Amino acid sequence: MNLSDIFCQDRAVEALRRAHQTGRLAHAYIFDGIDGIGKFTTAKAFAKLLLCQSDQSEISPQGSSTNLKSQIDSCGQCESCRMIDADNHPDFHHIYKELCKVSREPELRSKQPIDLPIGVIREFFIEKIQVKPSLSTSKVFVISESEKLNIASQNALLKVLEEPPNKSFIILLCSKLDNLLPTTKSRSQIVHFGPLSEEKIIEKLPEVNQTEAKFFARFTNGSLGQSELLTKLQPSFYAIKKEFVKKFSIFQIGDVVDFSQWINSSAGELAESWMKLKAASSKADLGRAARKIFVSLFISVLSDAMRVSLGGEEKLTNFDQLAEVKTISQRFGQLGCADIIEVCYQTIRFIDASVNEKLVFEHLLLNCTESGIIKSSI
Ligand SMILES: [Zn+2]
Repeated sequence: MNLSDIFCQDRAVEALRRAHQTGRLAHAYIFDGIDGIGKFTTAKAFAKLLLCQSDQSEISPQGSSTNLKSQIDSCGQCESCRMIDADNHPDFHHIYKELCKVSREPELRSKQPIDLPIGVIREFFIEKIQVKPSLSTSKVFVISESEKLNIASQNALLKVLEEPPNKSFIILLCSKLDNLLPTTKSRSQIVHFGPLSEEKIIEKLPEVNQTEAKFFARFTNGSLGQSELLTKLQPSFYAIKKEFVKKFSIFQIGDVVDFSQWINSSAGELAESWMKLKAASSKADLGRAARKIFVSLFISVLSDAMRVSLGGEEKLTNFDQLAEVKTISQRFGQLGCADIIEVCYQTIRFIDASVNEKLVFEHLLLNCTESGIIKSSI
């Protein structure tokens, strides 16, 4: 994968090419944007260019001198490029929280990491960045989920960010810029990655029908990666979401326990299927992620219901279940929906804090009833 192959992130790619072409490369970059929009793929393609052993001024895919600079890219032929493509480049390092499983420290190996532990940063980043490059003239470190760097890990990073040794480049991939310390941000150049348009996502999901693809584009806020992932899960996530919206539109107080159990068991099945696609991740991590997807379903349908109560039916995420959305809108009302959305954000915090999984959805559903929303509709 070269920079020219990156899909729909022209502004970000152009900024990186321009920096390379003008010799104004930063030592540290933050690639900011939601998950699944090509941040890692771009980081790897940019690393390929930074580590490429050819003289990039000679490279022009079109062979035209006018395109020479705007099309600057890795050669794809040299030893370095081939090693990046084969995922065994000695000067390219990918840092992610699950590396704790291969740590030399037994204590770190036994961890189920929620954040990016300082032990991983020390062993796989700070130690390795001190070693001279062995193939190329510089080294590249890509840190995934940098929003999960805790304060201690960020403090450990700071000194290196200021002046990375051995001509190294550091790329932090981040989906929540607010989680990074101001000092981390001020020492890095921020490159923003935007969501993809609905049309592009539909075009890239030919295996599902248009209605389904449109739902995924809206539900993931324009993330192709997340949309692709959701279409691969078994049982069908789309069928589960249809069932969820139906159940949510008609559930009564007496259904809370059953409904909550159904959510937990469906989330469990999705997490199992997810495990098969993403073997590096921990089961607990994917279990949490699957439950958070259900909270996002709650938020999506409640936001739709609020929009409908204000008279808007445009751009609803659950446009394919308009009747149910209208029922929810009538039952809960605008303020009721807003209240439950608040509880949804609290539920996400509970899930992150590993609060008893059996109780979180009961708590959320009971909150719908406690606010009198359902009682008043009976
Ligand atoms: Zn090359």
